[in-house]
Amino acid sequence: MRRPIVVGNWKMNMLISSSGHWVEELLNTSDCAGTFDIVVAPPFTSLSVVRKSIEGSKIQLAGQNMASEAEGAQTGEISAIMLKDAGCDYVILGHSERRQYHNESDELINKKIFLACENALNVIFCIGESVGEHNKDKTNDVIERQLFDGLQGLKEDQLNSLLIAYEPIWAIGTGHTANPNQVQDVHSFIRSLCEKSFGKDLARATRILYGGSVDSQSSSALMAQPDVDGLLVGGASLRSKSFYDIIKSSFKGD
Ligand code: PEP
Repeated sequence: MRRPIVVGNWKMNMLISSSGHWVEELLNTSDCAGTFDIVVAPPFTSLSVVRKSIEGSKIQLAGQNMASEAEGAQTGEISAIMLKDAGCDYVILGHSERRQYHNESDELINKKIFLACENALNVIFCIGESVGEHNKDKTNDVIERQLFDGLQGLKEDQLNSLLIAYEPIWAIGTGHTANPNQVQDVHSFIRSLCEKSFGKDLARATRILYGGSVDSQSSSALMAQPDVDGLLVGGASLRSKSFYDIIKSSFKGD
């Protein structure tokens, strides 16, 4: 019922030339058929070339971030409607790097989520605890706060376009993938929170992704968990081959 998904987040990597080449390689060397979604989030400068290269394929495009205002005097920002115009179906919001290095608050992320939903973008809403919070057993508290504050005021029809990515900060870019059983526990907790606030149907339909040092060794055990519906991949998405290996090991026999 929940269509699995793998998302590649290139962060601030890849020039225009290498971006087009990445897509070509993925499409030439691999069979991406199957009942799952593939999404790639290039830097803004590469959206156009990637959009052209994925034409006719199943790969979809995501923005890595978005402005909290709809338009106007916001030098250096990219709006929701601009992302749509550039061919994006998805946007990543609330990533821990945005929270940490750009001081994005739950309130600001909530504003962005509203705007994204209004503009028919599927939101990949990232939440996750720091190492300190993890060690103090505060994971569930952090998740609950980020989830409720980030989604405050959203109506059921807006939440239909929501995906949640659980990304423990201590696992991002560190090579320490979270244990699949622990990931399952957190995902199941997230789903129970969704059910409490938004009802059973929506909770059942919402895709919950895991992100944090995923590679082709860890992906299949993660995807085998009942509440893991997809993967958000950073470092290992930078090479088309390692990204494809993750897809292949996640969807064996699909
Ligand atoms: C991320 O930044 O969303 C991420 C999951 O990165 P990595 O896979 O490199 O840990």
